This record gives sequence, C-alpha cells and structure tokens, in this order.
Amino acid sequence: MFNSDNLSINENNHLTIGTHDTVALAKEYGTPLYVLDEDLMRKHCRDYKEAIDKYYSGNGLILFASKALCTMYTANLAESEGLGADVVSGGELYTLYKAAFPMDKVFFHGNNKTQSEIELAIHCGVGHIVVDNKYELDLLNDIAKEKGIIQKILFRIKPGIDAHTHDFVKTGQIDSKFGVALENGEAFEIHKYATTLSNIQVDGVHCHIGSQIFEFEPFCEAAKVMMNFIADLKAKLSLKIKILNLGGGFGIKYDSTDDPLTPAEYIKKTAEAVKKVAMERNIDLPYLVFEPGRSIVAPAGITLYTVGGVKEIENVRTYVSVDGGMGDNPRYILYGAKYSAVVANNAGAKPIAPVTIAGKCCESGDLIQENIMMPEIKVGDTLAILATGAYNYSMASNYNRIPRPPIVAVKGNEKKVIVKRETYDDIIRNDVL
Ligand SMILES: *Cc1c(COP(=O)(O)O)cnc(C)c1O
Repeated sequence: MFNSDNLSINENNHLTIGTHDTVALAKEYGTPLYVLDEDLMRKHCRDYKEAIDKYYSGNGLILFASKALCTMYTANLAESEGLGADVVSGGELYTLYKAAFPMDKVFFHGNNKTQSEIELAIHCGVGHIVVDNKYELDLLNDIAKEKGIIQKILFRIKPGIDAHTHDFVKTGQIDSKFGVALENGEAFEIHKYATTLSNIQVDGVHCHIGSQIFEFEPFCEAAKVMMNFIADLKAKLSLKIKILNLGGGFGIKYDSTDDPLTPAEYIKKTAEAVKKVAMERNIDLPYLVFEPGRSIVAPAGITLYTVGGVKEIENVRTYVSVDGGMGDNPRYILYGAKYSAVVANNAGAKPIAPVTIAGKCCESGDLIQENIMMPEIKVGDTLAILATGAYNYSMASNYNRIPRPPIVAVKGNEKKVIVKRETYDDIIRNDVL
C-alpha cells in the first residue's frame, strides 16, 4: 500500500515503520524527525552484495555512496554488511575515518579535490582516488612523491551515455563537469600520460551515468563502452585495467508512478554485458564495482512533521504548513522532486482533495510537494513524507537558523538516536562577537 513493505498501519490507524508506531516516535523525539529503518537499509546492502556473488562470482564490491547519507553510524552499518564506500569531499572522508572505516575500501571522487583534501586522503590511506582531470593528476603525483607512496587511481570517464529517467541518449554527455571524455580521445591521452608518472598506479576506470534510472539498458551500454575502452588500453598501451567501477544511479519508488527493478536485475544484466565484451575482446574480467546510494538508503527513511497550519485559499489551493521544510528537505525547491505523504495518525484515510505541503522558511518556494491528493488534514496531525532516507539529511541546511532534525534508527523493536537534534547553541557555535 505504501512505497515499501516496511511501512504499514496498526490497530490505532497509525503509520508504522518496522514494528514502530510513527506517531509515538514523533511524540517521544519531537518533530521534525528523520526515522531510518536500519533493517531495510541492511537488506538493501545484502541484496546488492548477494547479486555480485550470484551473477559475478563475488568478484566485485558494492560501495555505499556516502553523499546519500553520511553519518558515522551508517558508515559502520555499511561496513558491517561488507560494503566499501565512496566519498566526494574531505568532510565525508573524515566522517568515515573517524568511524574507523577500512580505508582500503574507500574510493575518493570529486571534480575539484583541493590540495588539502588530497593530502588528507593520502594521510588516511584511501585505497583509490578517482582522478577527474590532468591538473589533479599532476597534483596527486607530486603529493604522492613527497609522501613517498604510489597512489592507486581510477580515472573518471564520460562514456557518452546520458541516462535520464525513462530515457537515455548515447551522445551529448561531453557537456559535464565530471571526468574526461572518450569520444575526443581525452580519456585515452590521460591514461597514456599517467603511465609516465612515477607515483601513480592506474588500477581502474570509473563512470556514473546519472541517477534515478529505471532501466538496465543504460548500465549495459555503459558497461559495453567501458569494457571496450579497457580492451583498447590493453591493446594500444599494454595497460592492464583491473577495476571497472560503473557508479550508482539505480532508481527507487517515490510515488506510485515509479517502478524500479531489483538490485539483482540491474546487476545480472550489467554483469552479462561485461562478460560478453570480455569474451569478444579476449580480456580478463575486471573487478566490478557499483556505487548505489539512493537505492540503499532512500526507501529506508521517512521524515515526520507536525502540521501547524492549514490555509484554504478558495479557488486557488490549500497550504498545509509543517514544522520543517527546505532546511531538512531541499529536494523539491532544488529540482521539483516527487514525494508521497501520509497522515501518520490517520494512515488508512482516503485522499479527498489536493493540498500543497509548505515548509516554515522565509521563501515562497519552500514547499515539500504541490497539489498532491491527501485525506483531511488538521492542525496537530503528524505528517510523514516517505522515501527521504537519501539526500535529505545530507543536503540539510540551517537556513533561517533552524536547527537540523535528529535521525532515529529503528531496528527490530529497538530504537536509537544516531544523529542528535541540533540546538540553538550548535547554531551559533562558530559565531565570533
Ligand atoms: C551520486 C553518485 C553516486 C550515487 O548515486 P545514486 O543515484 O544515489 O545511486 C554514485 N557514484 C557517483 C560518482 C555519484 O556522483
């Protein structure tokens, strides 16, 4: 009935997540509140891992894309399920380092890593740095030389496949700030150049073709292009590429119109595409890496709010205001993201009229969703927004000096605060008088 099977309705007509009553959680911890179903997040980690085992003989690794939700607790969770992780900044890297995450299983991305971030990565012993461009390559070689190490890298490649929801095109992706292009020879040249550098070891190639992708074809197409490039590097440069990292981007269900594939379906088809080219071009099978973020954690999270006002503007629309908004969920104002909402204290009620859910920030565009069909909503109701586990907490801000909500993880009958609610003192902690 709801977006994922872990959500249901109990005898009080309240929305439940796992075994927990969401209205009781809202009462105990206050709102706004992020709730993370740890059991579901773990299940998604396992689904991916098992798919690699089953369809690629375990010759690969699933990385949790930290940017989707980067906390020390979730890093540990991913690690305990046998996953590695990718990071895109010094802050994400530091979070994992402090959580004692195994650094050899970390891949460091980013189109503009600073010198201090690269130094931090080398200091922490990050396994692989995914190099974006020639400037970064030279800088990395210099820093590695100074530290007396050989840094293992992958190059970020633009494979020329631009995958959008329900649609993908094979050209045009050269217009991206990330990586080096295949089609104009840039990718080939940088590999050739890298072989001349003393403190760089090229281990692999990486691409990431988009997000919220619902078909397996774009992944297969990317796998094919990348495998042929690996074969070319071997033939022309005698360069042996060991790792193929195909990024993330697997779609999830935000509302009833979304129909994602399972991790097994995505990985099975992509692994087949990799094996096919390996056979055709007579090259070894690479170690295969994927980086799902959203699909591991988004469906496992919900956000609970308290309704503070209902404003019916006749013949225009009805605004329902909640005690959070763009500060804890900027995805609607950023790119019109879709969401489903449930009146948590009346979860079985039928929708009767369209409403616009508004936040409390001083911006007209501070909305969570516009004109979605909802049951009657009253002041004091608890409103749940579903599938907020990814890119909500991680994108949250303190706009209007509103403290960020806490995250409560639920696991079986247990619950635990894994990120504390910010206080007003947290808000002013860096202010200098
Ligand atoms: C964003 C990103 C991911 C994760 O994407 P999802 O859509 O959350 O699965 C993985 N790898 C890279 C390089 C990314 O930029």
